[in-house]
Amino acid sequence: MSVSIWWIRRDLRLTDNFALVSALNYSDEILPVFILDPQLLKSKYVGEKRLDFLFNNLRDLDRNLRQRGSRLILRHGNPLEELVKISTETRTTAVFAEPDYSPYARRRDQAVSNILPVHWCGSPAVHPPGSVLRSDGEPYTVFTPFSRTWKSLPLPDISSFHPTPQRIQTPSQTSSLEILEVAGEKISFPAGEREAQERLQAFVGGNRNPIYQYKEMRNRPDIEGTSVLSPYLRFGILSARQAAVEAKSAIQNAPDGNSRQSAETWLNELIWRDFYIHILYHFPIVRTQNFRLGKIAWQNNRQDFTTWCEGSTGYPIVDAGMRQLVATGWMHNRVRMITASFLTKDLLVDWRWGERFFMQHLIDGDPAANNGGWQWTAGTGTDAAPYFRIFNPVLQSKKFDLYGNYILEWLPELANVPLEYIHEPWKMPPEIQKSTRCSIGEHYPAPIVDHHWARERALRAFSKAQ
Ligand code: FAD
Repeated sequence: MSVSIWWIRRDLRLTDNFALVSALNYSDEILPVFILDPQLLKSKYVGEKRLDFLFNNLRDLDRNLRQRGSRLILRHGNPLEELVKISTETRTTAVFAEPDYSPYARRRDQAVSNILPVHWCGSPAVHPPGSVLRSDGEPYTVFTPFSRTWKSLPLPDISSFHPTPQRIQTPSQTSSLEILEVAGEKISFPAGEREAQERLQAFVGGNRNPIYQYKEMRNRPDIEGTSVLSPYLRFGILSARQAAVEAKSAIQNAPDGNSRQSAETWLNELIWRDFYIHILYHFPIVRTQNFRLGKIAWQNNRQDFTTWCEGSTGYPIVDAGMRQLVATGWMHNRVRMITASFLTKDLLVDWRWGERFFMQHLIDGDPAANNGGWQWTAGTGTDAAPYFRIFNPVLQSKKFDLYGNYILEWLPELANVPLEYIHEPWKMPPEIQKSTRCSIGEHYPAPIVDHHWARERALRAFSKAQ
C-alpha cells in the first residue's frame, strides 16, 4: 500500500481541493495532517478568536473525514520535524500541499521541500502569483491593469471542479493530538464547509440574490450587504476559485444591467484579494515597510493608541467599529477604512501598530489583505489612496450609517441621543445631554482630537514624506 501525506494549511476543505485529489490519485492511502506550529501560535500577529475559529474548523474537517473512513492527524511542533517523523513512521512516499505565500510560509515550505518530496498543488488565490504579469514579465503594482489581465485569464467552469471524495483510506496506527474543544458561544462564525457553502449560495443564489444589490449595499455597515465570507476564504474552508466561478455565473445570468454591475463589483473584490496576495509575494518588503513614501513623522502616542483600541475616541463611528472588532472578530470594510484612517491620519499612529492590532482580533486576519488594507488607507501602499485623501469620520458616518443604527448597536450609552447628534454627540447642548443621560466626558468621551486640526497636522507630516 502506498501512503502519502495531505499537508493541510490554508485549505481546510474537502470540496474543490486540488492537493487532496492529487494525493488520492497518487497513492492508496493518505494521511490528512495539520501541524500546530509554535512559531505561529506565539506570534504577536495571532489572536485567540482566529485560533478558536481554526480549532472549530479542524473539528469539522475531522468529522467530515471520519464520515469518509478517514480522520485528521493533528500534531504540534516544527512542521519539518513533524513531517519527517510521520513520513518515517508510515513510510510515506510523497507530500501534497497547497502553496502559501507569506514570507514565513515560503521559508518554511522551502525548508520542507529541501528534505521531502512535496507536490505543490492549487493555490489560495484564484490565479496564483506569477500568472498575472505585465507584458514585460514584471509584476503589477496598480490594481486596474492587474484586474484587466486577471479577467483575461480563463476561469474554470464548475464541471472541472475537483469533486468531494466519497471515501478516503487512512492508515489506522498514526497518532494524533486531541483537537481543542472551543465553547461555541465564544465565536460569532459557525465552523465548517457546509456553513461556507450555504453562505455562498445565500449570497449568489437564493431568492433575494444579495450579489445583485451588492453595489448599493456594500458600504452600509448597518445592514448585511456583503457576503461575510472572509473568515471562510481566509482558511480555505471555501475555495476562492469556487467563489470567483459563482460570481462569473451571476454576471452571466444577471437579469439587468444594474445587477450585472453589482455582481462585477463583487468579483472585483475577489480580484483585490488576489492582487494583495501577489503584492506580498512579489514585494515581501511591504510586510515591514512602506511601499511608497519616505519616513513619516508618526506621533505614536501610546495613550492615543490605547484609546483607539478600546473604542473610546469620542467619534461614534470609530468607536463602534473598534468595539465590533474586539467583540466579534469582524468589522465591516467601510468601517475598517474609517478606523484605519483615523488611527494613521487623525492620531498619526504608525499603520504597523493598527495592522498588528487587527491581526490580533480579526478572524479573517490575513497577512496579505490586512497589510494591503492598512497601507492603502495610510496612503503608503501600492495603488494607495493619495495621502491627502483623509476620511472625515463625521461625514463618513452620516453618509454610510444614515440612521445611526450601526452606532447604536455597539454604543448603548448613546441610546437616547437624538439622531441629529448621533454622529457628533459633543455638539449636544448641555440640557439635551442631561435629559438623554449622556453627558459628554462622563457617559461618553469628548473627541480625542479635533478632526480639522488633526487633518492639517497629517497633511504637514505626510507632505514631508513625499
Ligand atoms: P465582500 O465584500 O463580500 O467581498 C468578498 C471577498 O473578497 C471577501 O470575503 C474578501 O476575501 C475579499 N475582499 C473584499 N474586499 C477586499 C479588500 N479590500 N482586499 C482584499 N480582499 C478583499 N480582508 C481580509 O480578508 N483579511 C484581513 O485581514 C483584512 N484586513 C483589512 C484591513 C483594512 C484596514 C482594510 C481597509 C480592509 C481589510 N480587509 C481584509 C478587506 C475587507 O475589509 C474584508 O475582506 C471584507 O470586509 C470582508 O467582508 P466580506 O467577506 O463580507 O467581503
